[in-house]
Amino acid sequence: MPSKEFQGQAFLNQSRKKNTDGRRKCFGLIGYYVVGNLAHVVAVTRISLELMLPPKHRVYTVMEAKWIKIPIEHRCDVDAKTKKNMAIMTEFQIDGNHFYCETLDLSRTFPSTHPAHEPCEEFVWNTFVTKPFADIGMSRWCVVLLQGVAMGRVVPTDDDKAPLGIHLALICRRSSINPGTRYFSRGLNEKSSPGNECEMEQIVFKQADDSVCFSTAVWRRGTVPIHWKSELVSQIADAAIIISDRPYEAIDVYYKRLADRYQNQPITVLNLLRVKSVHADEGNLTHHYRESLRAVKKMFNVKVDMVEFDWHHFLKLHGIEETTEALWDLTDPITNNAGLTTGVLHMSNGRFTDMTVQSKQNGILRVNCADSLDRTNLVCFFNSLHYLRNQCYAIDAASLAPKSPTASLEEIKKEMDANLLVHLTDMYIMVGDVCATLYTNTVAMHTQHMRDMTAHVTTAPSNAAILVNRRIQNQFKDKTRQKQYDIMLGINLKKYFTFSDVKYVCSNAYMFKSVPSYLDKPHRRPEDEIISNSNLCMVAPEDFDYIEIHIFLPNYFRLLEVSMVIRHGQDDTTSPSRMDVFCGTHLDDCVMAYQDLILPRCEDGTKLTFTLPPQISGLKQRNTLYDFEELTTSTHMRVVRVVCYGIAPGSCMTLGQIQVYGTDGRKALIDDVQLGVDRVTRIVANIQDEQTATSPSGDQEKNSTSLPVNNVTPIDNNYFAHVTGGDVLFSSIEDQIATTQDQRDVYVLELHRITDLNSLSFNDVLRLEMIRLKCGLSTSQRDTILIESGYKVAHYDPNNYVFWRDPKIENTIRGKLKSWNCNICRTSIKLRNIGCRYCRLSFCKNCIHNEKLDVIEYMWLFNPSTVCLDCAVRINEQRDLICEIQRLSQDRHVNNETVNEKLFDKNLMPNLDRIFHSPNHQETLLSEFPHAGILSSVATAQTSAPIESILLQEPQHYQDGINFWSSPVGIESVHIIVVLPCYAKINKITLLVDALGYNDQDKPTIRVSLGERLPLLTFMGEWQLPDGTISAHDRIDWDVSDLLTGYDMCRLVQFEVKIPKETKNNNFIHLGRFYIYGQINAAPASSPLNQKQLIQYERVINKKKKSSRVTIKTESKFYRQTSTLDLIIGQGVRVVSGFKILVSHGEQGSLSQVKDLRVGFLTENDRKELISQQVIGTYIIPKVANNTSLEFEFEKNYDNVKIIRFEFLSNYGADMIEVSHGRVSLFFTQPN
Ligand SMILES: [Zn+2]
Ligand SMILES: [Zn+2]
Repeated sequence: MPSKEFQGQAFLNQSRKKNTDGRRKCFGLIGYYVVGNLAHVVAVTRISLELMLPPKHRVYTVMEAKWIKIPIEHRCDVDAKTKKNMAIMTEFQIDGNHFYCETLDLSRTFPSTHPAHEPCEEFVWNTFVTKPFADIGMSRWCVVLLQGVAMGRVVPTDDDKAPLGIHLALICRRSSINPGTRYFSRGLNEKSSPGNECEMEQIVFKQADDSVCFSTAVWRRGTVPIHWKSELVSQIADAAIIISDRPYEAIDVYYKRLADRYQNQPITVLNLLRVKSVHADEGNLTHHYRESLRAVKKMFNVKVDMVEFDWHHFLKLHGIEETTEALWDLTDPITNNAGLTTGVLHMSNGRFTDMTVQSKQNGILRVNCADSLDRTNLVCFFNSLHYLRNQCYAIDAASLAPKSPTASLEEIKKEMDANLLVHLTDMYIMVGDVCATLYTNTVAMHTQHMRDMTAHVTTAPSNAAILVNRRIQNQFKDKTRQKQYDIMLGINLKKYFTFSDVKYVCSNAYMFKSVPSYLDKPHRRPEDEIISNSNLCMVAPEDFDYIEIHIFLPNYFRLLEVSMVIRHGQDDTTSPSRMDVFCGTHLDDCVMAYQDLILPRCEDGTKLTFTLPPQISGLKQRNTLYDFEELTTSTHMRVVRVVCYGIAPGSCMTLGQIQVYGTDGRKALIDDVQLGVDRVTRIVANIQDEQTATSPSGDQEKNSTSLPVNNVTPIDNNYFAHVTGGDVLFSSIEDQIATTQDQRDVYVLELHRITDLNSLSFNDVLRLEMIRLKCGLSTSQRDTILIESGYKVAHYDPNNYVFWRDPKIENTIRGKLKSWNCNICRTSIKLRNIGCRYCRLSFCKNCIHNEKLDVIEYMWLFNPSTVCLDCAVRINEQRDLICEIQRLSQDRHVNNETVNEKLFDKNLMPNLDRIFHSPNHQETLLSEFPHAGILSSVATAQTSAPIESILLQEPQHYQDGINFWSSPVGIESVHIIVVLPCYAKINKITLLVDALGYNDQDKPTIRVSLGERLPLLTFMGEWQLPDGTISAHDRIDWDVSDLLTGYDMCRLVQFEVKIPKETKNNNFIHLGRFYIYGQINAAPASSPLNQKQLIQYERVINKKKKSSRVTIKTESKFYRQTSTLDLIIGQGVRVVSGFKILVSHGEQGSLSQVKDLRVGFLTENDRKELISQQVIGTYIIPKVANNTSLEFEFEKNYDNVKIIRFEFLSNYGADMIEVSHGRVSLFFTQPN
C-alpha cells in the first residue's frame, strides 16, 4: 500500500510551508497514513497527565489527536468508496481512550525492564501507522500508543516513610490482536485472540527519596476464548449466541500466548455467565468453555481451571452484600494463593539503580461474562477491593485498609481510607466506560453498586437508556467502527480503499542538462522552475521554439504517468502545443513514449496528465488487432526526456510544472488493466475461427515467406573464463540472439520502399509489421527507426486503420463511383452492376468473388459482404497477416533484462543517514548505488555485469552474484558519467580493482571531468594508476582535494577510461568499483526575481489576448451502442478548425473519463448526400480535473463538412462499461 512509502521529503517541505501560516503544536506523533492523494500525519494535540510512575515516568492520556492532511504530489484516482472510508478513518476514537509514555515501557507489567521503544506488539495500537517511520529507521519519532485507561491518584498519609503519600495506579491495556466492536469481534478470531481482551494491572506504591515500595496485581478480562459469535435476531430479544462448528480450533495459541506473557503461571477462569436453567444460550457457552479447557489441556501442558459465578442471578436473589461475600468466598482463596508482586526499587539521583523483588504473583485470574463489559467490570472492581487491602499491607500502609483480609463490603466502606475508596471507584467507573465505549460506543451499565461504595461519585446513568442506545449503536455504528479499527491496524485494507501504487517520483529529481531561460538569473536551478511547484512559470528566450527537459530521477522506477501544467504567456499559444516524451534507464537508451503528442489549449494552470503507453508502463492499451507496442515494462527507468514545441512564431515559450509518476521498480508487476473493447475480442475470435477452418497448412506458408536469418557469431568475451569459468546468472543471456545490422537493414529497406511508393494502405502497414517481427526487431527498435527516418509512428500502426464505416454512407459512395464497365475485365455492366463493398467500384458478376467476406478494415464482421476478386485477395492477405502477427508478437518473449533485473531488484535500502545526515563531513561516500547512477549507457560485454555495478559496495553484492563490469573485446575507451545524488565537493576517488587485476596491457588511464549540468564538463586531471602489475581487489586511492579546490558544486563526474592500443586487438576494458568521496553541499538556492526581472517576467506573462476561436452551432446525436457522437453542422458554416471538450468524470471519478477519442468527418455533396467518411485523427484526452475544458486544434481547417463524428474509444479505468463523454463542441479559428 502507498503508506509504506514515506514521503518524508514532501512532509518536511509541507510542514515548512505550514509554518509560515501558523505552526501546529503537537505533543507526539501517532503515525503517518497515506491513502489516495492525501497523507495524514496523526498527531497528539492535547494531552492530560493522568499517571506518574516512579521515578518520573509521565503517562499521558491522549485527549485530542488530529489527522493533519497533507496533499501529496501524487495525482491518483480516489474513488467514492476510498473517499468515504478516508473520512471515516479520521474519526477513529483516539481521544480519551488511549495513552502513552515516552520513557517507560507500558506494554508490559510494571516495572518493565524493556526499553520504551521496544514494546510488546500485542498491546500497541499504532504499529501499522508508524511503519513508514520504522521503514526508514525513525520509529522513535512516534509514541507507543496503548488503548484503554492509565490513571493514578495520590492519597496523603501521615506515614513518615511516604512523604509523598500512597499512590494508587490502574492500567487497563486492551489487546490489539482481535480489535473491534461487539458484534464483529467476539470470542476467538483467526489469530486465536478473543475480542475485547484486556490486561488489568493495579499498582500501589509509596515513594521515598531513595526507594519506592510497590505492589502489583495483574489479571485478564475478555470474551469467552472459543470460536463463537452473536447475532441479533430481533429488536427486543437478546442476541443469539452461535457456537462455531469447530469451536476449539487453535485455542492453544491463545493459552500459549498467556503462558508466554506470564511465565506459565496457573490460570483460573472466573466465568460470570448465567447458568443454563436461567439462560440457555449463556449456559451453552459455558458448557463449550468448559469443554475447551479440557481440549486445550490435551494440546499442551497448561495449568488452567474454571470457577463459575452467575453474578446476575445471584444478585437478583440475594442482594449486593451477600453476593460480594459469595464472590470473595470463591475468589479469595485463588487470589491469595497467587499472591501479589511486591518489591522495592532503589534509586539514586532520580534514577533506578536496583530492584529487590520480595514476592512474585503466581496465578492469573481471567474474568469473563458474555461481552466482558458490565458484569466483568463490577467483579473486577469488587475483587480489586481485596487486592487493594492486601497491597496496602504489602507496602506497609496498613493504616489505610481494613484489618481483615476477608473484610465484608460494609467493613470496607467503614475501614478503607475514604480518599482511596473514592479514587478506586472513580478509576473503575472510568475503565468500565472506556471498555464499553471502545466495544459498544456506549458507557458501562450496572455501575450503581460500584457508585454506592462512596458518597462522592455521581449516580449511574440509567441501565435501560444505555441498553437502548447500545442496541442502536450495534446496529448502525458497529460496522463503521469496525472499519476504523481495521484501517487503524492495517487489516483488510483492500476492502476499504482502492489502492494505487502510483507515486510521485520527481521529488529530488535532477535536471542534467541546462535549459535556456528568458530571464537573466545568475543563480538559477531549472528544477526550481520546472519540476517544483512554483508560482512562476518557466519562460524560454524568444528564439527557442523547441525546449528539451532532461530529468534524472532519484531512483529507478517503473514509470506510469507524466503530467504538465499548462501556463500562458501573452495568450494560450505560447504554451507548447506538441510534446515528445522518451523514457529510459540511460540518456541514450530511451524508448519513445509519445511522438508529436497534441497538448490541448486550456485555461492557464490546467494540469494535463498522460498515462504512459504500454512500451513504458506495461499498461495495456486499447488495440483493435494486437499490441502494436510491446508490454515491455522496464522496472528501472531513470531518465525522462520531454521535448516541448509548437508555439506561435516570435513568442517566448511558457512552461509549467512537469511531473513524473511511477511505482517502485522493485515491487512492479505488469498490471493487467483491461482496457480492451469487446470489439477486439470479437474481431480476433472471428479471424481465428476462420483461420483454423480455411488454412490447415499454415505452417508451410510460414516457411515459404520467412526471411533468411544470418548466422550470428557471438562476440568473444574471455572475462569470465579468467574469473569464474561460467556463471549460471549469465547463461540465459547466451540464448538471446542479437539483432544484427543486416536484419535491421531488411526492415529499413522495406520501410522506405513501401513508404515512398504510395500512400500507406492497411495491407502495407500489416506487411511491414510482419517483416519487423520476422527480422526480430523489437517495437522500440522499430520506433527508433521510424523516428530517425522522420516518420510518424502512429501511421505505421495497423490498429489505427481499423474503424467502423457507416454502411449508408458507403452505399452513397458506391452510387457515386458507379461505372458502366467492369473495373477488372472492362465488359459492359449496364444491365447488371455489382458494387464491391471494399473498394466501392463496380464489377461484372464474374469478377465478383464467389464468397462473401468480412471487411476487417471497416469492422464489418459477422455480416459478410460482397467484394471483387482483387479485394478478396487483399482481404485474405490481411487476415493471414493479422493471424501471423498476433502469433509472432505473442511469441516474442522480451527477456533482455536478466542481469539488470538482478541488480536493480536488489533490496538496496537507502541509507538515509549517510545521504542526509552527514553534511560537512569530508569523507562521505557519494557514489553509492542506487542513489548515484550512471547517466549514459556504456559498451558492455554480453556476459558482463551492467555498468551500474561499478557503484556497488563490497562485499555483499559480489557474493550475491553481481560481478564486475567489462567492455566487449576491442573497445579501447569508454566514457562513464556518474550522477551524484547531491551537490558535493569531491575529495577522494578510490578504485577497487576487480578479480582480474591489471598488467601493463590492460591497465587503464582515467581522465576525470566534473560538472553541474551537461553540456559543460570541466576536465580535472588524469589518474595514473601505479606502475607494474596491480593485484586483484587492491584499493587505489586518488586524493583530489587539492586538485579540485574551489569546485564545490559538482553533480556529474565523468570518467574517460582508456587502455593502451594493442595490435592483437583482443584487449578489453574492465573495472572494479569506483568510490567517490567528498563533502555534501546544500543545493544552491535559486535567487528570487529582482525588480527588473519581475518587470521583464510580467511583460511576457501578462499580455492576455482574447481567444479567436468561435464556437460553431451544431446539433448532436449520440449513439449509445457504439459510444459515438455526431455533431451535425448547421447551414452556412463552411470551415471547422477544431473541437472543444468539457471533460467530465463519471461515477468512478477520473477512471471513467474518456481517454482515446477518434475524430472523423462525413462530407455531403450539393444534393445533401453524405459522400465520404474520413478519420482526422485519434486524440489522447489527458486526465484532467472534472469539468476542465480542452481545445484541440485540427492540423488544418476542414470545409464542406457536414458531420463531425467522435468515437469514445476508451477510458482511464479498468472497465469499459462507462466512458464519460463530457460535452463536445466545434470551433472555427478566426485568422488574426
Ligand atoms: Zn469483370
Ligand atoms: Zn473491390
